[in-house]
Amino acid sequence: MCKDMSPVEAAIQFHGHICPGLLMGVRVAEFALNKLGVGPDVNEELVAVVETDSCGVDAIQAILGCTFGKGNLIFKDYGKNVYTIASRENGQAIRIAQKFRSSHTPESQRYRELVRKGSLTEAEAAEKEELIGLLFEQLMSTPFEELFDWKEIDFEFPPKARMHATVQCVLCGEGVTDIKATETAQGPVCPGCLAENGGR
Ligand SMILES: [Zn+2]
Ligand SMILES: [Zn+2]
Repeated sequence: MCKDMSPVEAAIQFHGHICPGLLMGVRVAEFALNKLGVGPDVNEELVAVVETDSCGVDAIQAILGCTFGKGNLIFKDYGKNVYTIASRENGQAIRIAQKFRSSHTPESQRYRELVRKGSLTEAEAAEKEELIGLLFEQLMSTPFEELFDWKEIDFEFPPKARMHATVQCVLCGEGVTDIKATETAQGPVCPGCLAENGGR
């Protein structure tokens, strides 16, 4: 995170826009830093397991420094606003789950309506702008426990990011990480070629 930016600014810059989902992620990230008593990650200190791939995850990346590239962002494709954040330093982990309909205020419903609509009239665009301001106030000031359930959990830390050998796929000739390649009679085959060739 850039040192002279607030967490919320860092998240907005990283995500490219401000939206309710991102703000929920900001709340999660700030809560996690606080509860785990650590600063933003500099060297794989924090591990995040995210069960969604929506806006909020960008706040996790921007504020907690958990990223795919560093290997400390683990994605489970469950479609749930659930985040597990763990600290290697103190071995603590917390699981944070967004409460069902926790952010369903009349303002947020109207906001979603406008987002779904896509192309907006000038008046609607202005209304959307105003709504995001209201939602910002709401989401950043609502007590955390009204938005999320959380608990400490036991957590098995994944090994730190490791380097794997690269082998050459015998079908496309491109390199592929050895653990992702399938060994065939002809030699290693990458997942892309395996899929194209119907698993042969
Ligand atoms: Zn967004
Ligand atoms: Zn291939």
